[in-house]
Amino acid sequence: MAIDNSVAEETAREAGLDFVRDIIRDDLDSGRRAGIVTRFPPEPNGYLHIGHAKSICLNFGVAEEFGGVCALRFDDTNPAKEEQEYIDAIMQDVRWLGFDWGERLFHASDYFEQLYDWAEHLIKAGDAYVDDQSQEAMRANRGTLTEPGTNSPYRDRSVEENLDLFRRMRAGEFENGARVLRAKIDMGSGNINLRDPVLYRIVNAPHPRTGTTWHIYPSYDFAHGQSDAIEGVTHSLCTLEFADHRPLYDWLIEKLPVPSRPRQIEFARLNLTHNVLSKRVLTALVRDGHVDGWDDPRMPTFAGLRRRGVPPEAIRAFVKAIGVSRADNLVDVAMLDHAIRDVLNRTALRRMAVLRPLKVVIENYPEGDGEDLEAVNNPEDPEAGTRPVHFGRELYVERDDFMEDPPKKFFRLAPGREVRLRYAYFITCREVVKDASGEVTELRCTYDPETRGGNNPPDGRKVKATLHWVSAARAVPAEVRLVDRLFLSASPDASNFAADINPDSQEVLTGAMIEPAAAAGNDDTPLQFERQGYFRRDRDSVPGKPVFVRTVGLRDSFAKAMAKG
Ligand code: ATP
Ligand code: MG
Repeated sequence: MAIDNSVAEETAREAGLDFVRDIIRDDLDSGRRAGIVTRFPPEPNGYLHIGHAKSICLNFGVAEEFGGVCALRFDDTNPAKEEQEYIDAIMQDVRWLGFDWGERLFHASDYFEQLYDWAEHLIKAGDAYVDDQSQEAMRANRGTLTEPGTNSPYRDRSVEENLDLFRRMRAGEFENGARVLRAKIDMGSGNINLRDPVLYRIVNAPHPRTGTTWHIYPSYDFAHGQSDAIEGVTHSLCTLEFADHRPLYDWLIEKLPVPSRPRQIEFARLNLTHNVLSKRVLTALVRDGHVDGWDDPRMPTFAGLRRRGVPPEAIRAFVKAIGVSRADNLVDVAMLDHAIRDVLNRTALRRMAVLRPLKVVIENYPEGDGEDLEAVNNPEDPEAGTRPVHFGRELYVERDDFMEDPPKKFFRLAPGREVRLRYAYFITCREVVKDASGEVTELRCTYDPETRGGNNPPDGRKVKATLHWVSAARAVPAEVRLVDRLFLSASPDASNFAADINPDSQEVLTGAMIEPAAAAGNDDTPLQFERQGYFRRDRDSVPGKPVFVRTVGLRDSFAKAMAKG
């Protein structure tokens, strides 16, 4: 039976549901399925990226919602490209996102023997043959979108000869690429995937799990559907590029004595602006040194997002917000930032950090004196309580918060100008000290003792700006890394991505000064540096010099754009 997903999708849209869940509900309600079994099937040839989060949330999500089960299945059919390092990282990442496969940890390699038997089954039924054509000849004979292919001269080999050659392929008698096993379908098909697709290749490489047992490995098309059938997968959810493979998926299920009949449903990949969600490209970024490893905070990998301080709840909320459809689309990365802020605004502890310090001396504050003022840890969460912040005669403020000759709309510090220091006092700039080159090195200010706590004075005087600051006596020096988008264009060209890398994708500030409470936190506590954004302490921290990575800035351009409409 041919399944037309587009009809189902339209129905689902009208009902306000996503089309995958709608199909599943319908399959259950109609009794076509008794339960739900799904799988997330990564190939362990790289690290997972945020695109995979969409697939993970969908597969594990529907299993959870419909009382079914979901497996983690490694599609480990190409030992030339796959590594244990990736297998371990993928398991860590799926758990981190918040999903659990329980006992259902599978590998396509678990089924190599069964798959091999089914390949012989096809040969014996006259549905598969060993082809000796060179790769070039095969490519040339495949035809094009508009022209049919040409039958291989080896297509009509006898069953006996095919079996003999295939067994010798298995035994390791031949060089890589010398022969392949192909399904015998139709070289004239309008669908290129049905033009005698390759089922087995000779790959003389050790496999992370099966060692040197095998010299031939099944293709994706041969392994995937049959693995689904072995596991009793009911709905095999994959991305749109496999839509044209569905007739082959169904052909193999039809031809083979498989224990169950899964149904393949395709959905649109996640594409994200200013990102390339492709393991090939991400691998190249790491390999060619454009980034500092798979967990570089600029990478859209789980490892990178985690190191940047993105909470898994935010990724799940983001995936939920973008929905599941069959139409290809490009999601604004601002939507992800929005989801991250939404979580961190509720959870992050507020701290004061001066990223580019400018010294302030409070001339009327007694030398050697100091006091503790009370600062709120999280205005969104009263339970988070307060902390003391130290105030004294010498402070740091943000260099950007001072202008000697300010334009009209600049309300922060300037000669003669009064501002509020958050939680502390009103201060007025009295004098600007410069070095020989004319650079401002220090501001001499006075404070108003009647504004303690940052409150308005009894005379009702008001100020237009509130600045963050840190006490020079207690400040801890820190390094702060401001991470920005990795690619300049919204939709980078994957074939020429290197030319599009943002040269300013990471600004490293080595001279930041932070309040001691920010330095004391443990690695996983998300922090908001007031007026600067959300930050996470990085593993590059050393004693006495913490390093912070900015997870996301405070400004929400997405919410603004939404409000404008
Ligand atoms: P890439 O294109 O990055 O190399 P892939 O598709 O080869 O990724 P797999 O390991 O085969 O990576 O992916 C595992 C599952 O995740 C597949 O079902 C695939 O369809 C899905 N997936 C991969 N990328 C995305 C994406 N951008 N959006 C949604 N699902 C994705
Ligand atoms: Mg793939």
